[in-house]
Amino acid sequence: MKLRSLNRLLFLLCFNLLLIGPAFSQKKASDNILKIMKEAYELYKADKSGKNADYIPYLAKVDPNLYGITVVTAEGKVYELGDTNFEFGIESISKVFVLCLAMQSHTPEDIMQKIGVNATGFPFNSVTSIELQGKKAVNPLVNAGAMATTSLVKAENGAAKWKKINDYFNKLAGREIKVIDELYQSEAETNQHNQAIAILLQSYNAIYDNPLESCDIYTKQCSFGTTAKDLAMMAATLANNGIQPISKERLIETDHIPKVLAVMATNGLYETSGEWLYSIGLPAKSGVGGGIIAVAPGKMGIAVFAPPLDEAGNSVKAIKTIRYLSDKLQLNLFKAAEH
Ligand code: GLN
Repeated sequence: MKLRSLNRLLFLLCFNLLLIGPAFSQKKASDNILKIMKEAYELYKADKSGKNADYIPYLAKVDPNLYGITVVTAEGKVYELGDTNFEFGIESISKVFVLCLAMQSHTPEDIMQKIGVNATGFPFNSVTSIELQGKKAVNPLVNAGAMATTSLVKAENGAAKWKKINDYFNKLAGREIKVIDELYQSEAETNQHNQAIAILLQSYNAIYDNPLESCDIYTKQCSFGTTAKDLAMMAATLANNGIQPISKERLIETDHIPKVLAVMATNGLYETSGEWLYSIGLPAKSGVGGGIIAVAPGKMGIAVFAPPLDEAGNSVKAIKTIRYLSDKLQLNLFKAAEH
């Protein structure tokens, strides 16, 4: 063979490798995500620790054996395992996204000044933390702060505000999200403590619309029926810098993402947020319906659903599962990539 044709052959070979190489490693990465998800699922599926929330009667009745894991990458690839199509109460996970919506009409500084962004170190429905932390709601991810955040969503009246929230959640999830009526009734009949918090905030001028209406809208937003897939899609929107990975619509300003993730990192799992960050190293948010979302910026959104909770109100199986995924997929934000 002539030297020139040998050179051409070599060139073609290298060129093809360049083209195939990344596609091959992408395939390997995705195989790996599913493999790690399966390992976690097998490890924890029989874990019976924890207990369903029972202070909201509806939640006590949900099958404690349900278990689903969904990962949505920033590019929009979806990986699912287990009960990922079961609709459960989004609960406190809604707080993150109502914060994103409120930030469309309030600056990050407004949020810090009107609500606060410090960790409480107290349970999610604590009144003590409001008293101790300057008679403010403390942060958007505890009940007081979430009601204050809902009060900040700009709309002409309560009905318009509710529609705005529902429309926004539909866009984030990429499908129509509906309230589970039975859950909403169950919460509305038993939310006197939250009503009291809303009125307390009013007495400190720390809620910015009608307090009982804000409490009611908050209760409704907690009663959205979402699947692990919906929540992973919403988490992936945060991971993808505010752009919904399927519709490609920008739903959160780029500048708001680090603020929202910071609040999730310090407050996402209430009084055990420190333990979570220490062992997992990702911004996250739990809900008493049994869901937890975690965000690996630039990489993926993770949602795990399993109803039994620990003492702080966080899903036991979801914590273990996300810890496993974070370790094996090397997602911990505080760990520099190895060269
Ligand atoms: N709706 C629930 C409440 O207000 C949400 C709490 C939670 O998920 N931590 O108590």
